[in-house]
Formats: sequence, C-alpha cells, structure tokens
Amino acid sequence: DEGNILLAVSGLKVAYGGIQAVKGVDFEVRQGELVSLIGANGAGKSTTLKAITGLQPSNAGEVRYMGRVIKGQGAWDLVKQGLVMVPEGRGTFTRMTITENLQMGAYIRNDKKEIEADIEKVFALFPRLKERRKQLAGTMSGGEQQMLAMGRALMARPKLLLLDEPSMGLSPIMVDKIFEVVNDIHQQGVTVLLVEQNASRALQLANRGYVMESGEVTMSGAGEELLNDPKVRAAYLGE
Ligand code: ATP
Repeated sequence: DEGNILLAVSGLKVAYGGIQAVKGVDFEVRQGELVSLIGANGAGKSTTLKAITGLQPSNAGEVRYMGRVIKGQGAWDLVKQGLVMVPEGRGTFTRMTITENLQMGAYIRNDKKEIEADIEKVFALFPRLKERRKQLAGTMSGGEQQMLAMGRALMARPKLLLLDEPSMGLSPIMVDKIFEVVNDIHQQGVTVLLVEQNASRALQLANRGYVMESGEVTMSGAGEELLNDPKVRAAYLGE
C-alpha cells in the first residue's frame, strides 16, 4: 500500500572519504509503523539515519518524506514537517535545566498552553524528568539524558521519530525503561524508525525490521519473523 509510506529511502549511498559506508540502501517506513534497523557495529546504521536528515551528505540515492524528496533541507525545516531525530550521544543542552531543554524542543511552536500540556505529557512518560526538572541537563546520568533527548524530540510533536541507538551505554534497568517508552510513544501514534544494536529488544517492538551488514540491507521482514530467523538469531542474538 504505497499510499501510506511516510519515509522511502532508495539507492542511498554515503561515503567517508574513499570509504563507502552505505552502499545503496532501500527501505521504507509506513504511517504508524515501528521499524527497526539492526546490525553489527559499523554496519552503517547511524550513517543511514544521519543521511536521511542531511546531517551526513549522501553521494547517491533519494530520501522521500511524505512523498517529497527532502534533500537539502535543514533540521529546522524537517522538524517543522514532523521529522525529528534523536541523535546518538543525545545532544541535550547541558547548561539548561530539564524544563528549559523541553521548552527548546518546542521552539517551532508558539501555542504556549499546549506546550505546557505537552511538557506534562513528557513528565508522565518519564517521571524521573519531573522529579529533576530544575536540574541542569549536563549533571544527569546517561539514561536520564537519553530520556530528556527523547522528551525534547516529542515536544516538536513528531510524525516520524528517528531514534539512533537509544539504549547504548545504559544500565539494564534503564534499557528496560527506554524500550518501554519507545513502545509507549509508538502506541500513542508516532511512527518510529529505531536504529539499535540490541536486536532482540528492537525486533520485539518492531512491526518490521531491516538487517544491515557492511553498508547493505541484507534481510527484511516482520519483527517477529526476523526474531525467529535462525540466521538473525545466530548473528545478532548470540545463539
Ligand atoms: P555503530 O552501532 O557502531 O554506530 P553503525 O551501524 O551505526 O555502527 P556507522 O556508525 O554508520 O555504523 O558506521 C559505518 C562505517 O562508517 C564504519 O566503518 C565507521 O567506521 C565509518 N564511519 C562512521 N562515521 C565516520 C566518520 N565521521 N568518518 C569516517 N568514517 C566514519
């Protein structure tokens, strides 16, 4: 059903100097889906996400969002259209409080009352952020900063949320919490493209998934199908 494809990536290639990190990748994300992009370290997952938002220039291919090619648009323009990325490493404003960071996430909006209401919604998803709302972001733990980065992205009311390795470097309890919230966000109607090295958790949540190896998509299918695939289990689930 072509009608509800929100993001379509075709023939995408990205090089760093002479090294081709992404070698012609095709995939799509439909309205309402949670799609996981999994693969080993260095497979090109993060590079693919960065190329979608133009953070990393591509040398071939096309990215369509809501049917239109989005090449050359700044992060600001994309956020206004509902395409919001939470980068690896998070990038919160370390010298601002949690509340100020969340307000920054709504910088494209000027509906003050609704912004306040959305901050409360973020606090409902992440009670920890509410407890610490006056704390400077830079003094928070890695997991708390990941929560904040996700909360800040939600303040822009995304249609499509791109998450780059949200569980990376977090404690097991924090990993549980982050995946729980990714699931909540999806259940609330946000379409999600999730890049993860934690293949098991990412595929459990996913409607569909893609496996990347050495810059190429080598497998795709329903989340459960990939989760039960012997090759995926052997290569990515430690079996
Ligand atoms: P990871 O989970 O480790 O982030 P990944 O699948 O996201 O892995 P990428 O980060 O996209 O992989 O990296 C793909 C390849 O491109 C790797 O070989 C990596 O070393 C290389 N690479 C990534 N960023 C750069 C950069 N800024 N300059 C040069 N090479 C890079």
